[in-house]
Amino acid sequence: MTGRPCINPSLVRQYLFCPAAAYYIIAGLAEPPTERMRRGREVQREAVEAAARALGAEDVRYSVELRGAGFCGVVDAVLTINGRPAPLEVKTSPRPRRVPTPHKAQVAAYMLAAQAQYGRAVQRGYVYYAESGDVVEIRLTRDLRDLVLHVAGRIRQIYAGYTPQPAVHPSKCPGCWYRKWCADISRAIDII
Ligand code: SF4
Repeated sequence: MTGRPCINPSLVRQYLFCPAAAYYIIAGLAEPPTERMRRGREVQREAVEAAARALGAEDVRYSVELRGAGFCGVVDAVLTINGRPAPLEVKTSPRPRRVPTPHKAQVAAYMLAAQAQYGRAVQRGYVYYAESGDVVEIRLTRDLRDLVLHVAGRIRQIYAGYTPQPAVHPSKCPGCWYRKWCADISRAIDII
């Protein structure tokens, strides 16, 4: 690949789930849309409206393409809250007890792109967990920004030819769609 690839924030989420999964997506082997994903698209507008109401947003833009700071992707919505833009990502699942780092990092990548695109500080983003109706605020801390930029660097290495090796993860691999590409992992899981 020539030039500097812009990184989709959902790839940042996938990399933090498993670098090998991010590699398969970059290689063109992405999981086809699942029933859950299709359902997610159907409830998306309703979910964005519910989150915007809960947050008292002054303005809502749906399915916004954000590009900047090395990231590009379409976020579910950009809300305007107290005059400032704030990306919103919708998840169809209920709110987990602790918000997973991959979810925080995905929103943070959208925040960095929004900052560059709008030329304004974007300090907050949100995840809306549609099944439980919870909105969670994500703050762009220095640690979170550093993590996202680090992951983006690792993803660029994959685009440049680096192949991360799959590593057995008992809580992730058994239900992972990409397991069929991880031959050694499949064998290891079968033995567990
Ligand atoms: S099977 Fe395991 S190692 Fe392979 S992509 Fe999935 S989570 Fe990663």
